[in-house]
Amino acid sequence: MFVDTHCHLDFLPQPAQQAEQARLQGVGAIVVPAVEPSNFEAVRELAHSLPGVGYCLGLHPCSVNGLEEQALELLKNQLEAHHADPRLLGVGEIGLDLFDQGLRQDRMNHFFIEQLRLARHYELPVVLHVRKAQDQVLAGLRRFGIRQGIAHAFNGSEQQAQAYVAQGIVLGFGGAKHLHPCSAHSSSCLLAV
Ligand SMILES: [Zn+2]
Repeated sequence: MFVDTHCHLDFLPQPAQQAEQARLQGVGAIVVPAVEPSNFEAVRELAHSLPGVGYCLGLHPCSVNGLEEQALELLKNQLEAHHADPRLLGVGEIGLDLFDQGLRQDRMNHFFIEQLRLARHYELPVVLHVRKAQDQVLAGLRRFGIRQGIAHAFNGSEQQAQAYVAQGIVLGFGGAKHLHPCSAHSSSCLLAV
């Protein structure tokens, strides 16, 4: 069976039909990460209404420019309320994007670190978005002792890939052909289990 570890189903026009098509092709489970508070409800509803779908809650690095500090508080409250939900699979999508020059690095770092703290607290895996920041993200994972998760559209070196795997992180390579994975919302990562 295949697991799609990174699919923004809620951004697709007909999520139920598209999830069903994937299921018929052998994709037995789909993980739908959130990107900011405005889609927390949507991903949770999808996970609870479609078979084989789980969700994550998190603040995407490409979203943080437009987010207030209270978004972190909101995420924390949501994780507190739902961390025992069997459909909640992790904290994501979180990470660092140093490729996109328009993003505020201090803010991105702050949001990333605080979300790693939450993942650690609730003992949840992380769904990572990493661009030109492989070593920085790895340092964060080590600092908080996070040893479960997936990095989607991974494009680091072989040595960096080995370091991620040693940290317990599964690597996805889908979407690498896209110039900008933030907008490549169909960049699914399939994992055979
Ligand atoms: Zn994504």
